[in-house]
Amino acid sequence: MYTFHLGRGGTRNTTVLTKGNLMQTISNEDKNIILNSIRDIPDFPKPGIVFKDISTLLSNAKALNTLMTHLEERYKSYDLDFIAGIDARGFIFGSILADRLGLGFVTIRKKGKLPYTTVAEKYSLEYGFDEVEVHIDAFGDKKNARVLLIDDLIATGGTATAAASLINKVGAECVEACFVMELDFLKGRDGIDAPVYSVLHID
Ligand code: AMP
Repeated sequence: MYTFHLGRGGTRNTTVLTKGNLMQTISNEDKNIILNSIRDIPDFPKPGIVFKDISTLLSNAKALNTLMTHLEERYKSYDLDFIAGIDARGFIFGSILADRLGLGFVTIRKKGKLPYTTVAEKYSLEYGFDEVEVHIDAFGDKKNARVLLIDDLIATGGTATAAASLINKVGAECVEACFVMELDFLKGRDGIDAPVYSVLHID
């Protein structure tokens, strides 16, 4: 792996070159802009959970732009066909990114929300159980469509593991699962059958 700096004084974003693949990493300065825009809500939705509230990231124009520009830079060289977002906060980041990259956006929704024929997968949350679904024809006719999965946060990884599995079940390929935040101590990434990238890591 070869690392070199772009821009002024080496303090800005860094490009990492791996086997001909250009992947944009993020500066600590930009990470802090995003991190400082996210609010912790203790004991929501139940005692013991610290809820990471991204509504304050969304309403902060600088933080949102910093995040989306980083994701655009990272994923523009991935040769993606679709972005798939997880219900509901993954829809926000996913659809912005899809538009920036000139791609279509696919919704992976909680059970009972999609009107056409679906494929479903059960999963466990940090605080309960749920089921996600995707339309059987969500990725069109193309075989092995290259799909980036995105959500705001990975905790136990149950939701994203189910979502990545759905993408594969309907004949597409989950090339990476991307999160704004990862709760590292829960090791949620271990169960996902795809590479995982998180912008922020929470110990
Ligand atoms: P998990 O399946 O345990 O990885 O949970 C991930 C999903 O639950 C994501 O869609 C998150 O939006 C939501 N979630 C889980 N834990 C939290 C948390 N502490 N703060 C905010 N959202 C959370």
